[in-house]
Amino acid sequence: MEHFHQKRKSYKCVFLDLDDTIWDFHTNAKISLKEAFDDMGLGRFADFDVFFARYAKKNTELWELYEKNEITKDYLMKERFRYPLEKIGIEDDSLRKELGDAYLRLLPTRTTLMPHARELLTYLSEKYPLTIVSNGFVDVQYKKLNHSGISHFFTHFVFSEDAGALKPDKKIFEYALALNKARAEDAIMIGDNFEADIKGAMNAGIDQLFFNPAGKSIVSNHAPNYAVSSLKSIFEIL
Ligand SMILES: [Mg+2]
Repeated sequence: MEHFHQKRKSYKCVFLDLDDTIWDFHTNAKISLKEAFDDMGLGRFADFDVFFARYAKKNTELWELYEKNEITKDYLMKERFRYPLEKIGIEDDSLRKELGDAYLRLLPTRTTLMPHARELLTYLSEKYPLTIVSNGFVDVQYKKLNHSGISHFFTHFVFSEDAGALKPDKKIFEYALALNKARAEDAIMIGDNFEADIKGAMNAGIDQLFFNPAGKSIVSNHAPNYAVSSLKSIFEIL
């Protein structure tokens, strides 16, 4: 019986998600919110860890709705703080706004990256043009890239607000391909969100590398081309 060994594909460009793929959103969000929470004296009303857990859960749910175009950016920005504040008995719009503003001022200045992210970007950027493909808000994402000193690794930046579409819509990936003057088969997408990054790239006919550090089990008819639990494993793939 003959064995066919699939030749490793050679890609011409690499697309990367930013939040929780390169930039450690969860850690940076927690530090930022803790600082804002303490500055405003909210510790009198609640334990921060409980507050943060509620915020993080609500924020994830809201982002899922935002990515399905079911809610607006404004609603997301309000509701993610309104909800955990209400849970600790605070229904004060100006306080909610103050907390949200302080958080958004602090968050993009944080610089914690995912383990091995900087090494990976150093390695990949010598071999491929790199493109950020992110649903995050443009002004916030540029600040994160600049403060953490990683923007020079990227050739192109594609944000949903510029592309007029959110991942998993294939339009945002087509926008990134056009900027790279590349075809779908020339690109690979690296991301931590199965719905947005992996299914999105599949929608656009682009290969996918699923970064799954928590080892979440995914129910899907489609397996990604590659799945890794550490960014370090990508050195062997690309
Ligand atoms: Mg992400």
